[in-house]
Amino acid sequence: MAEHADVVVVGGGLFGTSIAYQLCRRGAGRVLLLERAALGSGDSGRTFGMVRRHYSNAVTALLAMRGSHTIMHWAEEVGIGDAGYVETGYLLPVPEALVEASRGNVARLAALGLDTSFVGPSEIAQIEPLLALDGIAGGAYEPDGGFADAHKMILGWFAGGYAHGLQARFGCGVSALIVEGGRVRGVRTPEGDIGCDRVVLATGAWARELLMPVGVDVPIALKRIQVAVLRQPAGAPRPNVVCSDAVTNVVVRPDRGALFCAVTYFGDEPLDAADDCDHDASPGYEAAIRRALSERYPTLAGAAWQRAWAGPYDYSPDWNPIVGEAPGVEGLHLALAWSGHGFKLSPAVGEVVAAEVVGDQPVIDVTALRPARFAEGELLRLAYGPGARA
Ligand SMILES: Cc1cc2nc3c(=O)[nH]c(=O)nc-3n(C[C@H](O)[C@H](O)[C@H](O)COP(=O)(O)OP(=O)(O)OC[C@H]3O[C@@H](n4cnc5c(N)ncnc54)[C@H](O)[C@@H]3O)c2cc1C
Repeated sequence: MAEHADVVVVGGGLFGTSIAYQLCRRGAGRVLLLERAALGSGDSGRTFGMVRRHYSNAVTALLAMRGSHTIMHWAEEVGIGDAGYVETGYLLPVPEALVEASRGNVARLAALGLDTSFVGPSEIAQIEPLLALDGIAGGAYEPDGGFADAHKMILGWFAGGYAHGLQARFGCGVSALIVEGGRVRGVRTPEGDIGCDRVVLATGAWARELLMPVGVDVPIALKRIQVAVLRQPAGAPRPNVVCSDAVTNVVVRPDRGALFCAVTYFGDEPLDAADDCDHDASPGYEAAIRRALSERYPTLAGAAWQRAWAGPYDYSPDWNPIVGEAPGVEGLHLALAWSGHGFKLSPAVGEVVAAEVVGDQPVIDVTALRPARFAEGELLRLAYGPGARA
């Protein structure tokens, strides 16, 4: 092959840029990032951007804790740009049936060193006075949770990587992985084949198209999710905290100024392929958001509709990520299946995957996320049941 790189990173979203940046910092040789469209043009450009650490298992909690620390201290950790972090607090209200699960998670997370507590309805009313408390038995609270800006993070990592020698091509999609003798040898692109020693696949919801032809069958399925942005009138109350309500399944966060974002689950919305996703909001989504708000946030239900969008996301059978070398293909590293909760994991995953690629000891042991765990029957636990993303 005429062209050669030490590592090719495929995908220019949160994970591809975070990993590429960390590879360059570690001196991984010639690192080439290939993105079929533009930086942040996939899921990462559509994310809700929530920063929380509430998880049911240690591995994702540790990744979220380390990742959130980077987001909160971007200047010291990355040094270029900022993550647009806004500290609001994070609240996860639960019904009576989930109180034990929530208390258990809070105790495990506090033992890991996280500032979190289980709060009752009267404390919840103080933390977020806009909430109608019907059906809420209590909740997990992280006072320093909040939200950040994926575009800023991607640009910061790209600029940081570029300063350390990162090379990149945009509008350059990988059409195939080149695998010979059980080892990755390169990637095929419309501009020609590129030989390489290692490939990091960070193509999010588009991964299966590249993996199936080389015999890697990871159990990734796709769903569509929608996000809405609304505006409160001048002087009207605004949401204070980022809140995922496990009772009614509405998720709300403040945004800049009088804007706020809201998500409500709108049917199951499975997808066969990521490119099948309609990026416009569904007819009826506005009505569904208003219904959800009137139940949980009555003072927000009449806010002015600004816009809404949808994206595809990749999820695994235990709703946790898939990180590690692909079974049967040496040199092919997977960073996939973020299951709708990858945002705040991306900084730490960059460090971990870059270490794995260059053969160093990762700062967090992610063996529990290995691709083979499904075949081995070692799925991760979810305290709130499938699809709860915690
Ligand atoms: C609407 C929505 C809301 C969300 N909200 C949250 C949230 O609040 N919190 C949270 O943690 N997570 C959330 N998520 C999930 C989060 O956005 C994802 O986990 C994260 O963005 C995944 O990043 P990624 O880099 O894996 O994928 P992407 O950002 O999709 O990046 C993959 C990139 O690969 C490129 N690509 C694909 N195929 C090829 C190819 N063959 N060759 C070259 N390039 C290719 C794509 O163009 C894309 O840019 C949300 C997702 C959606 C859709």
